[in-house]
Amino acid sequence: MNKLLIATNNQGKVLELQELLAGSGIDFVTPAEINLQLEVTEDGSNYQENAGKKAVAFAQASGLISLADDSGLEVDALDGAPGLYSARYSPKLGAKDADRRAFLLENLKDKPHPWKAHFHATIAIANPNGEVEFAEGDCYGEIIPEERGTGGFGYDPIFFMPKLGKTMAELEMDEKNKLSHRARAVIAAMPILKRLFSA
Ligand code: IMP
Repeated sequence: MNKLLIATNNQGKVLELQELLAGSGIDFVTPAEINLQLEVTEDGSNYQENAGKKAVAFAQASGLISLADDSGLEVDALDGAPGLYSARYSPKLGAKDADRRAFLLENLKDKPHPWKAHFHATIAIANPNGEVEFAEGDCYGEIIPEERGTGGFGYDPIFFMPKLGKTMAELEMDEKNKLSHRARAVIAAMPILKRLFSA
């Protein structure tokens, strides 16, 4: 049977997508498992363009149907920033996730609370011919000024969900995978995947 390639080099996303796809009946592989090293420049002007570009590049390089995610954190008080630029949101050279969280908090410090925000994920599924289909998901919460929790990745330690009383980083992966933007996008993508893989 044909395999689905999880088209991302972000280890946090790989782990979540592996768990989200487990039990779907779809056989999947990661770029590392097929020795594929590919960096795709994310120069699109929206999530769909970036996700589509990544999915098509990985599909063409591997010959496999490929699933890419382009995602970001949108903060209301910053007019939706960092948004599309979430992975690169820091002036520091060689910045890591912690630097990006610190930069976000620095930019928010004079803004009135609560700092409402949501994560967005667009999933693109491409075949090697360049045909692409999309699915989307969102998760709403707010940014808090102190870090809480050690799970997840990226902005998770400062993304608080009032209904749960927890940050995304305080959730077990299976809990995050029930409600995150990426989980919702994968659920929305399931009919596409089931059709493509007859799963
Ligand atoms: P990209 O999709 O490769 O452009 O990267 C998306 C960026 O958004 C990540 O590097 C994180 O900074 C942020 N992000 C996306 N999803 C999540 C998440 O589930 N938790 C925390 N940060 C996320």
